[in-house]
Amino acid sequence: VIEQGLPDHTVLTTCAYCGVGCSFRAEMKGDTLVRMVPAKDGKANRGHSCVKGRFALGYATHPDRILDPMIRETVSDPWRKVGWDEALSFAAARLTRIRSAYGAQSLGGLTSSRCTNEETYLVQKLVRAVFATNNVDTCARVCHAPTGYGLKTAFGTSAGTQDFDSIEHADVVMLIGANPTDGHPVFASRLKRRLRQGATLIVIDPRRIDMVRSPHIDAAYHLALRPGTNVAVLTSLAHVLVTEDLTDEAFVRTRCDGESYADWAAFVREPRHAPEATAQLTGVPAADLRAAARAYANGNAAIYYGLGVTEHAQGSTTVMAIANLAMATGNIGRPGVGVNPLRGQNNVQGSCDMGSFPHELPGYRHVRDRTARETYERLWQVSLSDEPGLRLPNMLDAARAGEFKGIYIQGEDILQSDPDTSHVAEALAAMECVIVHDLFLNETANYAHVFLPGASFLEKDGTFTNAERRINRIRRAMAPKGGLADWQATQALANAMGAGWAYTHPSEIMDEIAASVPAFAGVSYDLLEREGSLQWPCNADAPLGTPVMHEAGFAGGSGHFMVTEYIPTDERTGPRFPLLLTTGRVLTQYNVGAQTRRTANTAWHDEDVLEIHPHDAEQRGISEGMLVNLASRSGETTLRATLSDRIAPGVVYTTFHHPQTQTNVVTTDNSDWATNCPEYKVTAVQVRPANGP
Ligand code: SF4
Repeated sequence: VIEQGLPDHTVLTTCAYCGVGCSFRAEMKGDTLVRMVPAKDGKANRGHSCVKGRFALGYATHPDRILDPMIRETVSDPWRKVGWDEALSFAAARLTRIRSAYGAQSLGGLTSSRCTNEETYLVQKLVRAVFATNNVDTCARVCHAPTGYGLKTAFGTSAGTQDFDSIEHADVVMLIGANPTDGHPVFASRLKRRLRQGATLIVIDPRRIDMVRSPHIDAAYHLALRPGTNVAVLTSLAHVLVTEDLTDEAFVRTRCDGESYADWAAFVREPRHAPEATAQLTGVPAADLRAAARAYANGNAAIYYGLGVTEHAQGSTTVMAIANLAMATGNIGRPGVGVNPLRGQNNVQGSCDMGSFPHELPGYRHVRDRTARETYERLWQVSLSDEPGLRLPNMLDAARAGEFKGIYIQGEDILQSDPDTSHVAEALAAMECVIVHDLFLNETANYAHVFLPGASFLEKDGTFTNAERRINRIRRAMAPKGGLADWQATQALANAMGAGWAYTHPSEIMDEIAASVPAFAGVSYDLLEREGSLQWPCNADAPLGTPVMHEAGFAGGSGHFMVTEYIPTDERTGPRFPLLLTTGRVLTQYNVGAQTRRTANTAWHDEDVLEIHPHDAEQRGISEGMLVNLASRSGETTLRATLSDRIAPGVVYTTFHHPQTQTNVVTTDNSDWATNCPEYKVTAVQVRPANGP
C-alpha cells in the first residue's frame, strides 16, 4: 500500500492497532497511501508512533484480501463469488429460516474491537432489533471483560480513570501484567520519560519485561509472582497499607462506602495475608512486598495494567483488588493517579461502550433496566427482550448441544483467538449458518457459509475510543475495496431481513448514540471536527469531555470496596504437566497477526517461539533453537525454543501471532468466574524435544 511518490493530499485518521489510539496523517497520492505520518497535534501520541502504526499497512492492499462476497451451501463445497445482493439474500434467508425453525435464541452475533463505534453499535442493533435476541458478544470477552465488571463494581463506571497526560504527574507507577514496550509502545515512551524524571516504578509480572531493566530504566521493584497469584499479591500489598496505617482515611471517609471499607479492611488485616505468609505461595519475597506497598503509598501513585490481570480465573477479582488499593490510598480523581487498563485493541473501550455485551445495552445499562430498554424500543420501533443473552463461550456450548445454529461474526477470528481450539471448531461445525465479515479468509472462515468482504480503516469513516476514553475520528482515505464499508454491509443485511434502516453516513449513527447514551450526549462529528477528539463522559455537565474521572465523586455515588479472597486456579501443575505456560505478544505483531503477518513486520518476527529457563531446558535436553513439543491437557503444538532467564524456572512463555503454531490449541477453557474471560495466562504444560522420546 505504501508507494513511492509525492502525496497530493492528507487525511487525518487514527491508528487501527492498539488502544493508545495514535493520530496519523495519511499522505495520499490519489487513491494510494504514500506514507503515514504521526500527527504532532494527536492528543494521545503528540507526534510519536510505533512500527505498527507507521509501517504495518501492507495488509490493506495485500493480495490475500477477499474483495467479493462469497457463499456456499456446505463447508465442504467450494466458495462461489457472488454480488452483494445475492450474498445478503442468501445470508438473510438462512438466518430467517433458522429463527423460524429453532427460535431467536438460536442466533447471535459478534462485534469486534477492531471495528468502529458506529459499526459495533449497528451489529448489536442487528442482533437485538432484527435477530430479536440479546445473544451478542465482543472480542473484549476474551481480553478486558473483567475490567468492565471490576471497575463498574468499584467506581460505578467501566473505564479507566485518567488521560495519558496524567502520567506526567505520577510519582509512583505500578505496572501490573502489562508489557507496554511491546503492547502499547507510544504509552511506554511516555512512561519511560516520566521514570527518567525520577518516578518510582513497581512491576508486577512473572516475566522480566523490558520495563524492569533496559537502558536508562531500572524498576525499583519487580514482583516476579507465580502465574495465577495476582490476587494474593495485591491482597498482601493491601495488608501492608492497612496494618501500617498507610491509607488515606479522609478520602475513604468522604468518598467511599464505609461499610464495604470496614469489611475489606478487616479482611486484609488477617495475618494470613501478611507478606511473610504469602511469600511462599506467590514466589515474591516478603521484604519486596512490604517495600513495594510502602512505595505505592508515597505520593501520587498510578496503576496501569493489562491482560496479565484480566485473563485469569480471578480476572474480575484482580481488577477489584487493584481498585481497592487506589481507593484506600486516595489515588483517584486527580492527575498522576488512578486505575488505567491498557486496552489491547484500538476499540476495546468503544466496543464495550456500544452495548456489545449480552446483558448490557449501549452505555452499560442492563437489559433489565426498563428506562434504557424503552429508549431503544422507541428509537428502533421494536420490542426488546429483557433476558440477558448468551456470552460467546455459552453460544459455543449451545452450538455443540445443537441449540445454537447461526452466527454473524464481524472482524474476529475466533478459531485462532479463542481458547481450546478444538472445542471452537466443533461448535462452528455444528452451526447451519456462519457468516464471516472480514478482510481475509481467516481460520474461522473454514467453517463459514457466507463471507462478506470487510473494509480496512483507510476505507471508511467512523470513530474509535482509545484506552483513555478518547473518541478519535477515522476518515475515509480511499473507497472500500470490496464495495461497501462494514456499517453499510451490516445495514444491508438488516434490511435484507426486513428492517428499514436508512443511515447515509456514520455521523447519523453517532447522532443516534448521542441521543440514547447519557455519557455520549454531547458527542457529534461537528464537535469532534472542532476539538480533534473528546473523552467521554461528554454531555451537559462536561461539554468538552472528561480527561480525569471521579474528581468530585464516583459515578456510582461512593467507591465500593470488595473483599478479594484468593482462590487458586483449577489449572494445577503435576508430574505430567510440570510447567506453567503464560502468553503475551511482541512489538512488531498484533494479536493473531491477521494484519501484521501481511506486512514487512513479519521479517522481524516470523514465528512464535517458546521462552524456557536454561535450567528447565537443560533438564529436558533442550538447546537454543530446538523444535519442541508443547503439550497440555487440551492439546499440543510444536514450536522453536529459546533459552531465557527473563522467566523463572517452572514457567514458560510464548506468543500467539502465527496460525501455524496455534498456541490456543494448548490453552484451557478455564475462565474468569464473573465474565468468562479465558484464563490464557495459566496453563499447565509439558515441554519436550519435538523429535525426542
Ligand atoms: Fe498504533 Fe498503538 Fe503503535 Fe500508536 S502505539 S502507532 S496506536 S500500535
